[in-house]
Order: sequence, then structure tokens, then C-alpha cells
Amino acid sequence: MRRNSVRIGLSAAGLLMTFLATSSYAAKSSRSSGDDGSPITVVIDAGHGGHDRGGIPGQRVAEKDMTLDVALRLRNILSANGYNVVMTRSADVFVPLGGRVAVANSYRNAVFVCIHFNATPRSGASGIETYFYSRDSLPLASAIHYYVAGGAPSENRGVRRRGFFVLRKTNIPAVLVECGYLTNPSEAAYAQTASYRQRLAEEIAAGVRRRNAVGSGFGTTRVATAESIPLQPYMDQTKVTSSKKSRSKRSHKKSARKKKSSSKGSGSEASAGSSGREG
Ligand SMILES: [Zn+2]
Repeated sequence: MRRNSVRIGLSAAGLLMTFLATSSYAAKSSRSSGDDGSPITVVIDAGHGGHDRGGIPGQRVAEKDMTLDVALRLRNILSANGYNVVMTRSADVFVPLGGRVAVANSYRNAVFVCIHFNATPRSGASGIETYFYSRDSLPLASAIHYYVAGGAPSENRGVRRRGFFVLRKTNIPAVLVECGYLTNPSEAAYAQTASYRQRLAEEIAAGVRRRNAVGSGFGTTRVATAESIPLQPYMDQTKVTSSKKSRSKRSHKKSARKKKSSSKGSGSEASAGSSGREG
């Protein structure tokens, strides 16, 4: 008898704990409002558009169409979840990078999510990458990458820190997600199916919703549970210039010579950025 009542007492406590845990989780993830209770704005940036197809010359699947479709799906999901959503473009038009940044910077209590797909002449390359620049953006990058890389059948190429124009110039947390390689036959095939693009949008939305659930510290002993997303380790690529990155063995001499003239790092990067060809 006594044992029974203890057991009942314990299970009641267990229930209470579960209830408390659940309700605090619910409170933490009241996702559509910010600290001051006002709605969070998500500025969604579909990469490229108009005369800028994205990708590399001769690429069969136009990046600009895939990014726009995922962006519109993401808009629908987030709007349905109570977010205030702003699109830098919602049609096949060219918007300069400065214009995209200006839209993002005109909102407070907002986050900026840029959607891209990757491309390279090496068709074997594949995988998901997520970029950020400011430290404030790392939790959002971690959360989005956790879901997108986890939900896609692609290689996890990790979170990377890099000074893309749209990430460097924004004043709000900003993330650029590369949703796979359109130059890779199987990733391009996936990207061309509506159900897969919907899946990508849902995973990105999950990352936006859970952006505050990212645990701190690397290689942490903290166990990842449904309530904590491990902070993703990242590669710092801010010191890598684009000329160094794209240098192949064959063009080694040529780019080494070129490097001299373009060694004023940030200047050449900024101009590359404002031309709208990056990412
Ligand atoms: Zn792109």
C-alpha cells in the first residue's frame, strides 16, 4: 500500500515535471514573437533573378528559379506560423545585392535568410552548406543547417563563416543557405521535384522557428535533445579570397599573377559583391 502511494506520488511528480518541461518549451518556442512581443520579421532573399541566372555558365537548371520557388514555399510556411514575412523578390526580377541588404536593414526584430543553390564544374561535388558572418548570426545558421542538412539526402558540408556581401552588410542576423549543387546530377534531380523543394522550405522554417534553441559551446558534453540544437562547428573562410579559392592547379601561375593586382582584398570582394554575381 505504502509502496503504491509512493509510486503514485512519484509518477504524479513525473507528470508535473513533464508538464512543466512541455510548457516551458512551448513558451520558449512562441516563435512568431520577439523579446518585446512584437512579431518577428523574416526577410527572405531568393538568390539571383532576372538576367542573373546564378550558377555557372552553361548550367542546365537555372538557380534563380529554384531559389525563388523555395523562397515562396518558405514564405507560405512562415506566414501560416504567424511570422511577418518580407520578400526581397517574389518574381523573376533582378534585384542588386545593395537593394536586398537595404530591405533587410529596414526592419528591426528581424532575421534575413538568403536561399541559394551551389554550382561547380566538378559534377561530383554535392552537399549542403550554410554561411554566416556576424557572431549574432551563428545560432540562426546552426539551427537552419541542423535541419536542412539533417533533412536532405545530401552530404553535410558544414557551417561556414564567410564575408558574402549580403551577410557582411546586414545589421540583423543573416544566413545564406546553399541547398545543394545543381551541377550534381542527383541533387539537381531532387531540386527539380516540388516535394523536395517543399521539404527544403520546411526544414529552413524549422531552423527559423528553433533559432533560439541552439546550445552554446563546441564539442559540448550537453546531449542534443528535442529541446536543444547543438551549436554547429564552423569553418572560418573569411581569410580566403575568391581568387585563392577558385585557383586550380592548371591556372596556378595565372592566378598568382592576377592576385597581385587584386590583393586589396575587401575592395575587390565588395565590387564582386555589388555586381550581383556572388553566391
Ligand atoms: Zn547563388
